[in-house]
Amino acid sequence: MPTALGLAREAGAESVVCSIDYDPATLARQRELQSALEEAGLRATLVHDAPAVAPEETAATRREGGGRGYRSLAPYLAAWGSQPRAPREARVRYAATSLSSDALPQPSDFGHSVRSSDAASEEAARALVDAYLAGPVLAYPAARLSPGGEPTARLSAALSFGTIAARTVLERVDGRLRDPFLLAEERFALRAFAQALARRDFFLQLAWFFEGDSDAPLQDRMRRFPFAPSHPLLEAWSEGRTGFPLVDAGMRQLRATGWMHPRVRLISASFLCFDLGVDWRVGRALWERELEEDDDALATGNWQWAAGVGADLAQFPRIYNPTKQARALDPAATYMRRWIAELASAPASYFFPARSRASAQLALPLYTACNYPAPVLRHDVAARAFLRRYAEFVSA
Ligand SMILES: Cc1cc2nc3c(=O)[nH]c(=O)nc-3n(C[C@H](O)[C@H](O)[C@H](O)COP(=O)(O)OP(=O)(O)OC[C@H]3O[C@@H](n4cnc5c(N)ncnc54)[C@H](O)[C@@H]3O)c2cc1C
Repeated sequence: MPTALGLAREAGAESVVCSIDYDPATLARQRELQSALEEAGLRATLVHDAPAVAPEETAATRREGGGRGYRSLAPYLAAWGSQPRAPREARVRYAATSLSSDALPQPSDFGHSVRSSDAASEEAARALVDAYLAGPVLAYPAARLSPGGEPTARLSAALSFGTIAARTVLERVDGRLRDPFLLAEERFALRAFAQALARRDFFLQLAWFFEGDSDAPLQDRMRRFPFAPSHPLLEAWSEGRTGFPLVDAGMRQLRATGWMHPRVRLISASFLCFDLGVDWRVGRALWERELEEDDDALATGNWQWAAGVGADLAQFPRIYNPTKQARALDPAATYMRRWIAELASAPASYFFPARSRASAQLALPLYTACNYPAPVLRHDVAARAFLRRYAEFVSA
């Protein structure tokens, strides 16, 4: 296999430009490559191609901190939103080369089955963005909170593999925002969607400015928190058999499609880290095998956030009650019924019981009750036990 230097030579290149990968291990390799290319007399540049707004641009608006990035989301979003956004003029053109290449590996080479989303291309990504911005985006604020309702953009894989740039998506959103006939709520929805891209940039700049071991929590004081490396119920969580339908629906959606609704990800991660007390790195590794997107910096930032060890450390961890969240996010149980075959015809009283979920098991037809488990634990007991351990840890 030719080295990058060999490839550059074969192509007759004088300059090599490389899009920065924010995963610390890959970034270290990219820096080594840059040095090797420069030593060989080539110009080598690493560029912030993945974010919509480069980390240095937001950091420059920060008075204190010596040009370093943001560890808190709210001030970052304010800095991101205040960046001037001129439409891009230049279009880059690439000369065709006659480089030879081996055939690209297929998903089956890695033990994956081919899903419809594997048909990745720039055209497919542009078509996805066009279709989303043409209409569904106007329901985005509700879609974020409603896994059974309107769709979110489902863009993470395209952004992760670079079949579309975040800058291009943002430019398209800005274009829509310039429409003088937009209603106030439509403007609000488009801004909320732009803010999702800002949230992505937030985690990328965290990885850039606070580069380190991606296994180490951003919060120093949480590095020694004794999360468990495993749990007897870990398999039930990862296979969607906890008896908490929202958590299980999310995990089953993930296993079936390679993607999970953004809000359900938070609930599912909370269940793993707080109800089971399992290390966020275990969840990140399990999801990495299933998720269609491949973005270590985003996975790490979000998992640390969900586990309360990353950016924006709250005084107490944000522990979600999976039954209350099910009522709030999926009040018609559309999402839960869709992903849990055993519950496809379960009555509403099963999902939203007046008393405990365990007693709601009685609302299921007999054959279903055999197939779908009763809750594997009591959330209130597990959450209180976690909080006790947490309080002991922070006061030690
Ligand atoms: C525990 C956990 C793990 C996650 N792991 C990943 C991961 O490995 N890779 C990944 O790309 N996203 C990850 N996310 C973030 C988010 O859930 C996905 O980006 C989102 O589900 C993608 O779906 P969408 O395109 O429909 O999102 P939309 O809500 O439509 O948002 C549009 C785009 O904005 C960006 N975005 C929105 N929210 C976030 C966020 N919190 N962090 C980063 N980018 C965001 C994404 O690029 C997304 O494609 C994780 C979230 C949690 C809570």
